[in-house]
Amino acid sequence: MEKETKLKIKVIGDDLLRKTCVEVKEVNASHREILSEMARLMYDFSGVGLAASQVGIDQALIVVDTGTGLYKLINPKIVRREGTQVMEEGCLSIPRIGVKVKRAQRVIVDALDENGKSVVIEAEDLLACVFQHEIDHLNGKLIIDYASFFEKMKMKKQLDGLMGKRRMDEGMFKSKTESGKLQL
Ligand code: ZN
Repeated sequence: MEKETKLKIKVIGDDLLRKTCVEVKEVNASHREILSEMARLMYDFSGVGLAASQVGIDQALIVVDTGTGLYKLINPKIVRREGTQVMEEGCLSIPRIGVKVKRAQRVIVDALDENGKSVVIEAEDLLACVFQHEIDHLNGKLIIDYASFFEKMKMKKQLDGLMGKRRMDEGMFKSKTESGKLQL
């Protein structure tokens, strides 16, 4: 039995996944509560990152844990990018789809922590990839936007299916470690 959480993961077709999230003006207890819920949801679904827009909240909040510790960040921004890397990424909001995405190999992220304190994080490789994926979410951008024309053609049927049955099983699907793809 999974623990009951108040938040549910939204699947592609949900409007909020395409919207730009609002910056948090003043960090308070409700943000800390949302971040904790998001982290719990991320771990429940074996994800390595989750953005607030994926759980129906239009605020600039993300959680990330690639195995080196949990980050709970508010208003994260990439202030520096270096190098390139390509990884096959999955997304908890687009079950069963994988897209090879070219991203910066190293990034510097400016953000606030859950107490509203300013933090600067230097990340590379997988961690850098996940930060970029989650910050994309805050700007309404998804991995399928990086797919080539032919990849999009191949995914079309699957995506149409996902969007069609979204309302029936929103938040109910399980996507645990399918094919070992990154789930973010
Ligand atoms: Zn995602």
